[in-house]
Amino acid sequence: MTAEPSAPVIAELAGVTKSYPGGVHALRGVDLAVARGDLLAIVGPSGSGKSTMLHLIGTLDRPTTGAVRVAGHDVAALSDRELSALRSRHLGFVFQHFHLAPGVTALDNVADGLLYTGAGRRARRERAAAALDRVGLGHRLGHRPAELSGGEQQRVAVARAVAGDPALLLADEPTGNLDSAAGADVLAVLAGLHAAGTTIALITHDAEIAGWCRRQVRLRDGLVVDGHDHDDRGPVALLRGAGR
Ligand code: ADP
Repeated sequence: MTAEPSAPVIAELAGVTKSYPGGVHALRGVDLAVARGDLLAIVGPSGSGKSTMLHLIGTLDRPTTGAVRVAGHDVAALSDRELSALRSRHLGFVFQHFHLAPGVTALDNVADGLLYTGAGRRARRERAAAALDRVGLGHRLGHRPAELSGGEQQRVAVARAVAGDPALLLADEPTGNLDSAAGADVLAVLAGLHAAGTTIALITHDAEIAGWCRRQVRLRDGLVVDGHDHDDRGPVALLRGAGR
């Protein structure tokens, strides 16, 4: 599913800089638009600003200068509480370390992520079960993180991130902590979600994963040095590449 040129932009950075205390200029003037349907890889050497950029897109942090717009909202105009509502409604996050609640079943790890919806426990658990089914874990609902493999834990984290049908899924090295077989399973899940309509932006160090993504943005020293599209790649190639 190729994004149409006219597709609505889900997230946009315009002239964004980010400096940290101590004078680190992590981003030095970045423009980026993430359109509905994108499958975007953010690449570049360690320290080039990838995580900072993902955090700004995810409204987990605010820029030093420049504008960040997510789902049509100018982040600068929103209070912290409004930002957190925006994140809950429109964004899903997956991190390298799965960040699941220990001692809590897969079902409740996912269902608890839907508390913001105001839905009752039963409805949350039904949606959570459906999300776990989508990532191939319909048979692991009652398992706790310690009873799951790394790849399964990351798939629970993906289910939690997409259970609320976010407009944009952000992933920071989602396979960075997994062996290649488990990483391929997680990638296949992400590819399937993308094929079904989820917009995804992910950070990766892995050139093969980046190559599967339709679009790459390369950062160096806080600047975008390359951004290009693959018109013949996409979720189908990603699914095949992941061995599915
Ligand atoms: P990448 O994800 O590409 O490795 P980062 O966005 O994590 O790059 O970091 C970019 C630069 O900003 C690095 O020099 C890093 O040390 C610095 N940096 C990141 N986060 C902070 C922070 N919270 N405080 C100070 N410096 C930071």
